[in-house]
Amino acid sequence: MRVAVVTVGDELLSGDTTNTNATWLCRRLTERGVEVERVLTVPDDVGDIAEVVNESLAAYDAVVVTGGLGPTHDDMTMEGVAAAVGREVEANAEAEAWLTEQGGYAASDLAPGTTHLPVGARVLHNEVGVAPGCVVESVYVLPGVPEEMKGMFETVAPEFSGTVRHVEVVDADEAESELVDRFAELRDRFDVQVGSYPGETVSVKLSGVDEDEVREAATWLRERVDGPEA
Ligand code: ATP
Ligand code: MG
Repeated sequence: MRVAVVTVGDELLSGDTTNTNATWLCRRLTERGVEVERVLTVPDDVGDIAEVVNESLAAYDAVVVTGGLGPTHDDMTMEGVAAAVGREVEANAEAEAWLTEQGGYAASDLAPGTTHLPVGARVLHNEVGVAPGCVVESVYVLPGVPEEMKGMFETVAPEFSGTVRHVEVVDADEAESELVDRFAELRDRFDVQVGSYPGETVSVKLSGVDEDEVREAATWLRERVDGPEA
């Protein structure tokens, strides 16, 4: 399953907020075997949200959108997603019933627009905050507040699946440029993907769908690089 993640918010683009939701979603989706192929960040703007969600929907199996669900003036996500799939937004009776019956809110306490979802969407209840999320076509719309986003994602996590890749990490205490030939031979010999991440040492990430193949590749490489000092 191939997925795009769309994070919405001016505060992400200005650098005021670190985009931890994108990182968290990418990790959780990858753990489930999903291939996350794009992370896109857009401003709080209906046109931008609609354009990116529409294009992503055409290109990927599912789109996960987070941020901008609340009822304040800068929360545009539901309208943008609705436009992307050619629907209107309307007050969702099921979302309102849940908030008043289970969420402990009086209908009069809910800010206007709180339960506005695209017509025909499946409601995702918000156990942590107020604003409901939804699923429409294969767009999953989640809140921006990290704890709310995580709680809601877990309720739909089983809908995201794929072939889980096995991972081995080999630490090499050498300059990355010196490793080039060994990487080439490694990739010739084994059916694994090789990622090279330099830091204090070079962290080499090997991954593939066949666990034995990945293990053998890691053993082969470990025998041929300088390991970090113990
Ligand atoms: P609510 O459920 O309260 O209505 P919301 O969906 O409207 O939330 P936003 O208004 O976009 O969410 O953001 C709420 C808070 O979550 C803000 O403090 C924002 O900075 C933070 N936030 C939003 N998006 C992200 C993100 N991608 N990563 C980390 N934090 C985020
Ligand atoms: Mg926002």
